[in-house]
Amino acid sequence: MTSIRTRFAPSPTGFMHVGGVRTALFAWLLAQQSKKINGEGTFILRIEDTDKVREVEGSIQQIENSLKWLGISWDEGVDQGGPDAPYKQSERLAIYKEWAQRLIDAGRAYADPYTPAELEAFREQAKAEKRPFLYRNHRPENPPTWDGTQPLRFKSDPKPYQWTDAVMGNLSTGEDAIDDFILIKSDGYPTYNFCHIVDDAIMGVTHVLRSQEFISSTPKFLNLYEALEVERPTLATLPFVMAIDGKKKLGKRDGAKDILEYAKEGYLPEAMANFLATLGWNDGTEQEVFTVQELIDAFTLSRVQKSPARFDEQRLLWLNGQHIRALSLDDLYARVEDFWPVVAKNTDEAHKKQVLALVQDRLKTLADLPILTEYFFTEPSPDWEMVSTNKQLKKLNQEEIVTLLAATKAVIADIPESDFVAENIQDTLNQLLETTGQKPGILFSLIRLAVSWAPFSPALHDTLATLGKDTTLRRLTESIESL
Ligand code: GLU
Repeated sequence: MTSIRTRFAPSPTGFMHVGGVRTALFAWLLAQQSKKINGEGTFILRIEDTDKVREVEGSIQQIENSLKWLGISWDEGVDQGGPDAPYKQSERLAIYKEWAQRLIDAGRAYADPYTPAELEAFREQAKAEKRPFLYRNHRPENPPTWDGTQPLRFKSDPKPYQWTDAVMGNLSTGEDAIDDFILIKSDGYPTYNFCHIVDDAIMGVTHVLRSQEFISSTPKFLNLYEALEVERPTLATLPFVMAIDGKKKLGKRDGAKDILEYAKEGYLPEAMANFLATLGWNDGTEQEVFTVQELIDAFTLSRVQKSPARFDEQRLLWLNGQHIRALSLDDLYARVEDFWPVVAKNTDEAHKKQVLALVQDRLKTLADLPILTEYFFTEPSPDWEMVSTNKQLKKLNQEEIVTLLAATKAVIADIPESDFVAENIQDTLNQLLETTGQKPGILFSLIRLAVSWAPFSPALHDTLATLGKDTTLRRLTESIESL
C-alpha cells in the first residue's frame, strides 16, 4: 500500500449532517490506516467556497467544530496551513486562472460568447427535435478572446469511458455523457467541476471519496484529467444515506440534523463514529461495536456497500449505550459534567460518582442522567398515581400498601448503620419476601417507588445503599404518611 492522501472538501453552505460527516470519517480512516502501516498518510481539509451565493456565514467554524468533536483531525487545512496552502478555494483564484490559461493555450478551452437567452433557445430547439441538448453542438467557430467577463468553457473530447470506482465497481458511459462544461464563471470564480480537479492534482490526493450525487459528473472529470495531463486519483463513490424506510433521502425529520446536536443530546463522539462507519460498511464479521482504533485497522473501501445505507436512530441509541458502558467511571464522570440535574449542583464528587456508577449501565444517552438520578439529590414528592397505574401494584389496596411499607421500615431499621450495604440489604429484603409472601415484582416495585418516585431506578438494594439508611427510612415514612 502506498502512502494515502485523502481530503474532505466541504462547501460552507450550512451545518454538517450525517452524510457529510460520514464522507469525512471514511477519508480520515483511510489516511490514519496509511499512517499506521506506512508511517505516512495525510488527511486534508479543503474548503470549497467558490459558490458565493450558497455560502452561509459561520459554516467553516461549524464544520471544524463538528470534525473536532468526532476526533477527526486534519494534517493540512485552512487553519494550520500546509505545503499547498491556502486551503480555501476562494484564495486560490490565481492558480485556477493559470491552469485555465494552460487549457486555452492547448486549444482546450474557449470563451462562451452566448447570452443566456441564446443558450435557452438552443435548449428549446433540442427539446423540440427530441435530442439531448449538448453545448458542444454549438461551439462557436471563432470564439472571442477570453477577457474574464465571459464564462470559460472546456473544449471536451467526447468518447465512451470505462472505469473502476473503488466502491461502485466497474462503470461505463457513452460519449453523450461528455459535454463542454464551464470552467470559470463570468463572476471570475471557477466551477467545482474544474477547481476540485486542479486542487486534487496539486495536493497529490490519491483517493477521492465523495457522495453519490457526483457520480453522473464523473465522465466529465475523466475527460478533464486527460486534458490537464494529470494522474487520476482512485475514485470512491459513497452511496446516499436514506431514511429508515429506505425510500427517501435522509431528511431533517429522520435525523439529518446538525451533527453537533447529537453532542448536546448526550451522544458520545466514539458512538457516533462507530455508527457512521457502520452506515454502509462492515468488516465482514458480525461485529457491531468498534472502537476508533478498530475502525482504523479494519476499514476498507472494498467493503463499503454499493446500495444506499439506512439511517436507523435506534441503532445509534443502542451503540451509544454500549460505548457509555465501556467507559471507565472517571472518564464517564468527566463527560457528564453538563448533564447532571440542577439539584446535584452542590453535591460532592464522591457521591456523584457513586450515583453515576449505579446508573452507568442504564444510560442510553448522557441526557438520561437527570431522570435516572434526580431523586438521589433531592426529596421526591409522592405520586400515588404511579402506583395506581402500575400493572402489578394497582391490585394492592391502601391497607396492604401501608402494611408492606411499614414492614419494610421495620426490617430496614434493624440493619445496623455500619452494615447498611447492598449485600445485606438484599438478604434482608429477600427474607421480607418470605415473611410477607409477596412476589418481588410487587414488593420490590412498591419499595422502589416509595423511596424514589421515579419511573426508572437501578437495582433496589443498590439504590437503598446509595441513598443510605436515614434517607431510606425517612422516605418510607413520608410515603406512608402521604397516603
Ligand atoms: N464541495 C463538494 C461538496 O461539498 C465536495 C465534493 C468532493 O468531495 O469532491 O459536496
